[in-house]
Amino acid sequence: MTFDDLIGQPAAKEALRRGLRAGRLPSSLLFGGPEGVGKRPFALAVAQALNCPVAPAEGCGECRSCWRIERGEHPDVRLVAPDGAQIKIGQAREAIQFVVSAPFEGRRRVLIVERADAFNAAAANALLKTLEEPPAHAQIILVSARPDALPATIRSRCPMVRFGLLTPAEVERCLERQGKRPPDDLRFLARLAQGRPGAVAGLDLEAYRQQRRIALELLDLLGQGGAVARLLKAAGYFGKLERPEFEAALSLLAGLLRDLACLKAGAAADDQSANLLIHADIRAKLQAIADRFTLERLHRALSRFEAIRRALNRNINRVLAMEAALLDLTSGS
Ligand SMILES: [Zn+2]
Repeated sequence: MTFDDLIGQPAAKEALRRGLRAGRLPSSLLFGGPEGVGKRPFALAVAQALNCPVAPAEGCGECRSCWRIERGEHPDVRLVAPDGAQIKIGQAREAIQFVVSAPFEGRRRVLIVERADAFNAAAANALLKTLEEPPAHAQIILVSARPDALPATIRSRCPMVRFGLLTPAEVERCLERQGKRPPDDLRFLARLAQGRPGAVAGLDLEAYRQQRRIALELLDLLGQGGAVARLLKAAGYFGKLERPEFEAALSLLAGLLRDLACLKAGAAADDQSANLLIHADIRAKLQAIADRFTLERLHRALSRFEAIRRALNRNINRVLAMEAALLDLTSGS
């Protein structure tokens, strides 16, 4: 995947290419922007451009060097991600040792650190020393969806390259590249991605639609004022999901609630705004559920589920949290 093949992010692409061609790319960079918009492929393309013997400063995508970088098999390019919740000192030292050592065969050593906001204080300090005086062959790229969470001392040493959400057309091109799909599925996934193709990569659509049916049943139940016994059963079902599945269910519920609010507000009355719906394929069903809610209650549901999502890091009891939220949402208007 060379620069030519990368989809979207025209400003980032232009800035990086200009730096590469002039041979003046800062030795440390911070790639900041939402998850799933292409920061890692861009970082790998930089690594290719720095090391490609065929098309220097550009990357050919076909030589042995480019090919191995793309597969993570090049001895001078390393991708590091936090081992657990944090990047600890041992992992940081090892990565630093790698990037300060002379290249084996390429021109540059490239260290790409994913979720770089996860450095703990000691690891950040160790990295800082290298950022202050990097050897000429070292290229460090920190990647983060929360660049503001990095220590100011690190941010001041790493010029930020900003990444944004992709346009719907760009998302479709990314998805097309991942493999052949029926046009309806492609359109649906592109809407679901909300500008972040990485968010739907590898999604099992069949399983997703099944989860969506269950989430819709819950919202339907809430809309009807819901019998307590059935709500508690639903809370038990959702609350007992493993954490990643539970988070996915919360984000699914949030997406459905946003669509309901959109319909409720009348924003989707015309065809143009109907495109705003994520779940446009079940619009009639959504409309019927929306009729049973007030806009205020939809917003309350959104904030209750969002509060649960935020509380997950505190290891809350998920069943109890869902019970409390659902019972609260059936009371009042
Ligand atoms: Zn090449």
